[in-house]
Amino acid sequence: MTGTVVTRFAPSPTGFLHIGGARTALFNWLYARRYGGKMLLRIEDTDRERSTDAAIAAILDGLSWLGLDWDGDAIHQFARADRHREVAEDLLARGRAYYCYATPQELEAMREEARREGRPLRYDGRWRDRPAADAPAGVKPVIRLRAPTEGETVIDDQVQGRVTWQNKDLDDLVLLRSDGTPTYMLAVIVDDHDMGVTHIIRGDDHLTNAARQKQIYDALGWDVPVMAHIPLIHGPDGAKLSKRHGALGIDAYRSMGYLPAALRNYLVRLGWSHGDQEFFSTDEMIAAFDLGSIGRSPARFDFAKLENLN
Ligand code: GLU
Repeated sequence: MTGTVVTRFAPSPTGFLHIGGARTALFNWLYARRYGGKMLLRIEDTDRERSTDAAIAAILDGLSWLGLDWDGDAIHQFARADRHREVAEDLLARGRAYYCYATPQELEAMREEARREGRPLRYDGRWRDRPAADAPAGVKPVIRLRAPTEGETVIDDQVQGRVTWQNKDLDDLVLLRSDGTPTYMLAVIVDDHDMGVTHIIRGDDHLTNAARQKQIYDALGWDVPVMAHIPLIHGPDGAKLSKRHGALGIDAYRSMGYLPAALRNYLVRLGWSHGDQEFFSTDEMIAAFDLGSIGRSPARFDFAKLENLN
């Protein structure tokens, strides 16, 4: 490993710190500590309606209790909206993005067609080459990326291996909404770039986003960080983990009397393994952790195993 490793944990503060989020934070923390790097914390509070101060406090508190510290001050994404707009405008000026004046009715018709054909909504690019003079009165435009229409987008993921998308299946995504606020897709890549993030470790529910983010990186001529998309956690019955499986917020385990070291050991084993060793001290965990030992199949949450560790 050359150069300083910079990882980040980037929670959306719309609820408490749950098992999946805590595992993502732990993996980022271990990787940064293993390589003498930094783990940054970015609060992704651009969804103004769902983000709350109580959730931010619960996340910071949960991380501290688990013993996961971060380097520098927490960054609040919403405070960087001007910078996100600046990047969208730069793409616009360079012809890599364009104003789209599609009306709500037109978008609804595209959505309806997608529903009929049983596929996700795909914007058809109708404003790619139309002048603003054609814009219908009263429609405030969004800014869309001029995404490649041919060829492939490829990510060499540290966990998933090589993942390939056909560009014809990915549409021109929205970078800036009509009210001037950035979308998640734009904000994440601008922040990761500006913060010097070298490794993105997160749940594989973000894998398709990764392809779209790669297209934005390419349009900007920026280097793409190393990516590692960790399989989501499932319950013992194989279904995606939910409260029904006894999966609670970190603070619930804390009030039930679980110790941080037990929970860290439990969380690290949700997807990562290292021989037969069952319990690791923090130093052992840091020394042994690597991305190559994260499995590709979903981790199974098993409450009984957590009880054995406490
Ligand atoms: N804020 C996103 C989430 O909580 C994570 C974004 C990312 O890691 O890129 O799911």
